[in-house]
Amino acid sequence: MIRTRLPHLFRLSPNVEPRQGYAWPTMLILHYTGMESAERAVSWLCTPESRVSCHYLVGERGEITQMVDEGLRAWHAGQSFWKGETDVNSASIGIEIHNRGHGLGYPDFPLVQMEAAANLCIDILSRNPISPQNVLAHSDIAPMRKADPGEKFDWKFLHERGIGHWVPPESISNDTTDLSEMQRLLSDYGYGIEQTGTVTPRSTAVIRAFQRHFRPARVDGVADRSTLETLRKLIGALT
Ligand SMILES: [Zn+2]
Repeated sequence: MIRTRLPHLFRLSPNVEPRQGYAWPTMLILHYTGMESAERAVSWLCTPESRVSCHYLVGERGEITQMVDEGLRAWHAGQSFWKGETDVNSASIGIEIHNRGHGLGYPDFPLVQMEAAANLCIDILSRNPISPQNVLAHSDIAPMRKADPGEKFDWKFLHERGIGHWVPPESISNDTTDLSEMQRLLSDYGYGIEQTGTVTPRSTAVIRAFQRHFRPARVDGVADRSTLETLRKLIGALT
């Protein structure tokens, strides 16, 4: 069994199958549970009828529970897209970070929980060929359906510990900018967005997902200069 070297609990989920087309994961997807308690989330993720699972769950006090062998395909991403890949479950490791989510008050993520999540990510990244720009939010790969782990999740904190791709966001601006260029750059970066040059539900959802991850001070789906400049800087910082 492939597992973290950090102290952790086991609650193995039956909702697994072999990875298809991937010997090793190349993506790391972060979620929040959106449930009242971590215990209920673990139970749900281990129930056959739920048809969902993840590799790890990080509780509010930093406790880590492993539910799926890293070598197996967990069912956490659902219908999703990143850089042309639509079977994200086969390509990824999924971590649920317990938080009640937007529907239940959306509390802050405690520092002890962020530290545990960061240590778990560092351990996973040390053993798997996952590039920084493939450490993503569920909302990045399923922007029409998902908002987790949301704009309160501290991607800067992870980046300071060597996890993921991130640049300081440009300050908020009250203007609009070239939507065609924004759609093109978002697509280049990996998002599933069509090049219409016009405002569509998907285009707005993808811009909102980008803002949640990279410019969280205002998440409104508007193609403003600050969002575009942050995106340009992010792409410019790719190695
Ligand atoms: Zn999720």
